[in-house]
Amino acid sequence: MIKFLDLHSINKPYEAAFLNKMTAMLNGGWYILGKEVVLFEKEFASYCGTKYCIGVGNGLDALVLVFKGYIQLGKLKKGDEVLVPANTYIASILAVLQADLTPVLVEPKEATYTINPSLIQENITPKTKAILAVHLYGQLADMEAINSIAKQNELIVIEDAAQAHGAVSNWDTKKAGNLGDAAGFSFYPGKNLGALGDAGAVTTNDEALAEVLFSMRNYGSKVKYENEILGTNSRLDELQAAFLNVKLPDLENENEKRRQLAQRYLREIKNEKIQLPFWDESKNHVFHLFVIQTKNRKELVAYLKENGIETMIHYPIAPHKQEALYEWNQLSFPVTEKIHEEVLSIPLNSVLEEEEIQKIIKVLNEY
Ligand SMILES: *Cc1c(COP(=O)(O)O)cnc(C)c1O
Repeated sequence: MIKFLDLHSINKPYEAAFLNKMTAMLNGGWYILGKEVVLFEKEFASYCGTKYCIGVGNGLDALVLVFKGYIQLGKLKKGDEVLVPANTYIASILAVLQADLTPVLVEPKEATYTINPSLIQENITPKTKAILAVHLYGQLADMEAINSIAKQNELIVIEDAAQAHGAVSNWDTKKAGNLGDAAGFSFYPGKNLGALGDAGAVTTNDEALAEVLFSMRNYGSKVKYENEILGTNSRLDELQAAFLNVKLPDLENENEKRRQLAQRYLREIKNEKIQLPFWDESKNHVFHLFVIQTKNRKELVAYLKENGIETMIHYPIAPHKQEALYEWNQLSFPVTEKIHEEVLSIPLNSVLEEEEIQKIIKVLNEY
């Protein structure tokens, strides 16, 4: 069976370095907000090209904290509307809700799966205060258009960069995390830069926001037992930071391998029943996922399984159709719904072997 994602193999090359970090931590006896977190924050900010990186507990918290940080700074307030793509992982929407803001769903462009800038304008009301752009599957949202609309309407732009570590915009060479006012990253194990547990970060160039978030993630305190604001506990774990410090230097390489494999799939998979993803071949895509579309997904999944190829669906149910968001179940987002019915993710990662890649291509071509 060709696994969709083999995390053991992905982390294998780093095992010796991970063990060294573990030993150093055991010898050091310091487990929370230590030098590994500080180092990671410095290195990841530098990688993204931002002034600040704030390490937090996970990707959802990163986004929630950005929103709460802006509320703390008086730039957002309860009930403000935030434009969010209808086609996203539910975490993007939950982040808005958890900060007591109101998500307003906007359809994506079908070709890129990211928020459709030409539909943003018509969803702007006097209450609209921010846009949450999601770089879904690893491809940057159309940030040039989004930033220009935001500027005209005085909106805050936040990136959900959980799937796009290292993606580079092809109009100004800035990276994901540095294309809006603030960004949330996840280092969930399966992400392009993945920890061995939960981890996340915020990146921003906004000094005031960074200052609030460094405090907010740690009980609203900068000096121990002095609480200036109502904070939470969402610190980046010291050990996870150590693992991320081991893996970060390899991220560019990993992303390049992903792009090369994507390019190969795009050239060699030829089947009328399969629609391949759109990509302009620039570095604005880091192929967190390689997502194809097909009319009869159930049949294709079964066929691939029979042939020893594991696939996944990102995502099977649109957020507005989830039971948890029952108030929205009657809303209609036809582009989003079609995407959720037809998408299928095939294995794409840096540890697939040549024979496995050949088999995936051949089996898909023979379908
Ligand atoms: C993974 C992911 C998140 C959430 O990250 P966690 O670390 O699991 O909390 C948010 N948004 C998107 C688009 C994601 O893929």
